Amino acid sequence: MEGELGRSVQFLTGIGPIRAEALAKIGVRTVEDLIHHFPRGYLDRRHIVPIKDVQLTEREITIVGKIAFAELVRGRQSHRLIVGVEDGTGYLQCVWFQGTSYWQRALKPGLTVAASGVVRYYDGYQLAHPAIDILSEDDDDRLYQTGQIVSLYPSNLFLRKVGLDSRAIRRCIHAGLALVRRELKDPFPIEFLQAAHVPEYAQAIAAIHFPQDDDGLRAAWNRIKYEELFFFQLLFALRRRAVRAPDRGLPFEKVGDITRKILAALPFKLTEGQKTVLHEIRQDLESFVPMQRLLQGEVGSGKTTVALLAMAMAADSGYQSALMAPTELLAQQHANNLLPIVEAAGLQLRLVRGKQSTQERREILSATADGEAQIVVGTHALLEEKVKFQRLGLVVIDEQHRFGVVQRTLLREKGPMPHLLLMTATPIPRTLTLSHFGDLDVSILRELPAGKRQVKTVLRTGAEHDKIYHFIIETAQKGDRAFILCPLVEESEKIDTEAAIEYHARVQAGVFRDFKVGLLHGRQKPEEKSATLTKFRSGEIKILVATPVVEVGVDVPDATVMLIEGAERFGLSQLHQLRGRIGRKGQQAFCILLPGPHISEEAQVRMDAICSTDDGFELAERDLALRGGGEFFGTRQHGEIELRWANPEQDQMLLFIAREQAFSLIERDPQLQTVSELRAHFMRRHAHRLQFVAAG
Ligand code: ADP
Ligand code: MG
Repeated sequence: MEGELGRSVQFLTGIGPIRAEALAKIGVRTVEDLIHHFPRGYLDRRHIVPIKDVQLTEREITIVGKIAFAELVRGRQSHRLIVGVEDGTGYLQCVWFQGTSYWQRALKPGLTVAASGVVRYYDGYQLAHPAIDILSEDDDDRLYQTGQIVSLYPSNLFLRKVGLDSRAIRRCIHAGLALVRRELKDPFPIEFLQAAHVPEYAQAIAAIHFPQDDDGLRAAWNRIKYEELFFFQLLFALRRRAVRAPDRGLPFEKVGDITRKILAALPFKLTEGQKTVLHEIRQDLESFVPMQRLLQGEVGSGKTTVALLAMAMAADSGYQSALMAPTELLAQQHANNLLPIVEAAGLQLRLVRGKQSTQERREILSATADGEAQIVVGTHALLEEKVKFQRLGLVVIDEQHRFGVVQRTLLREKGPMPHLLLMTATPIPRTLTLSHFGDLDVSILRELPAGKRQVKTVLRTGAEHDKIYHFIIETAQKGDRAFILCPLVEESEKIDTEAAIEYHARVQAGVFRDFKVGLLHGRQKPEEKSATLTKFRSGEIKILVATPVVEVGVDVPDATVMLIEGAERFGLSQLHQLRGRIGRKGQQAFCILLPGPHISEEAQVRMDAICSTDDGFELAERDLALRGGGEFFGTRQHGEIELRWANPEQDQMLLFIAREQAFSLIERDPQLQTVSELRAHFMRRHAHRLQFVAAG
């Protein structure tokens, strides 16, 4: 790289070899890296909460005050450091369990600090491991007197050990920017920026680190978000172009006997929604352009049935289909449900599982390879090299968000250029569809075949536990089934599992001693899980204690009650998915939310939202508004399309403009010859994502 931008940070005033080494650990090596080391937040008078007003919330808050005391509390196994911060309205405790000796040295009584973190409740409000900025007297004055906005940088132990706290980093960035400011050219054509109402790059970078006012700061971040959105849309546009190159697809020209037989074998008539979606799918399948379609519909909306008919159309034209599900349990369930109908139509189905006897495996692989099996169901076991198809024409991926683009591609590469149908039970607001699935066509199943589901969702408190258990007993006595979902205690599956095992043992020996209580958790073997579920479905077990593994597609028609313990720990879309497991025949069902005793404002809002509507799309939109969609999918997306800065809902105007610009650019000039600087920038910063384009 030319000029000062590519120089090592070591040569900047204030940074020597030791600091340079610490910075390298966070990926900051050159001056260019340094000026892209963005603040994690700003200290601004409006964001500072007076200690007397602190309450539980899931947002990060900042308090500013003087350190009143710092005390190391020695335990038998571990120590913790408690630091009291005082701001004239009250005291708040900050606590550290790690790095205590370092922090004890750094946080001397009398220093003024800004402490930022999420408040938790533990013997009163406290901040655990807050981010700390030691403020100089003049920061403090500036802050309080002029209301200037001060940027705060993420720091860590290495950085602090070499004196690089937020303030020192700010100084280094100041030096870096002064050096390279004249070199910062905007790779975007000016008319692109103007249309998006964002400032040029140099101005934006400067304002992000040293904001003068709110408007400038907002505009500067918009420039960063715009760029992020633009390049993702450019990738989508490129991918769509690559996949849809004419003549690559396999047109399924006839709808014939097999499709008709499957339709006849279905024990019901298709809903209008299913017909519409099938019509859309059929148009794709008939064309020379490979289908790229995302089918959205709540659990039970009949997506699998739609997929089955698409697979029948493939079979009618002599092609095989692969259906991939995220778990063994689901794959098995699909196979079981599809088998009778598929056989009635004279088709062959095989299930590829992770563990199968060698002989069974061999038979399945050969039936797949020689085309005898028209439908092959499985988990990612399908991706294994040994699994070969004779004529793979259609790939269906269920719960697609559990897979990455790479897996999607691996499966697709088992055929010439098979059509692709992705399915998701998570309702996705339009802005998110555009920002995350911008290369796909979308079909939506809005209605449920059984009519509107009657699940009443209620919020209860711990004091009502006995009453709830009694209600569950009545449910079981009636012959219905009840789920009890154990709280997500920790990030760790191990701990969740232990909690569920303990809960199960307690209720089995106690309140539910007259019943057989089942247990389902993520650490069980697939066979064990599926055996338990079979008993639960048949009624041999009427009460089932489970960790959130049931989130994925469990079909138990007689389940009418779900108790969700620790409900505040679940996201909106997850709660909605969970309650989708009950009342599946359209009968009256109850979802009982039981949050812990101390719940935050946001959790309260979430509980109220879920109780107030059954509409998945409405909830998804609220979720997006509440949380910005980052965690929307429950499981994180697989990296490729993670937005770091932009929020598709809040930044939808930027999203629409960026999309329009990117798509029309690729249509006019797919090689980006007319925008060479943009092209160079793209290759330098986003080329690693090009595999995602090739992916298809
Ligand atoms: P999804 O995959 O969207 O969760 P499924 O296709 O598995 O939904 O359908 C859920 C249940 O509803 C299944 O038992 C299925 O047999 C049934 N079903 C699907 N379509 C219809 C329909 N048109 N009428 C009645 N029942 C249907
Ligand atoms: Mg399904």
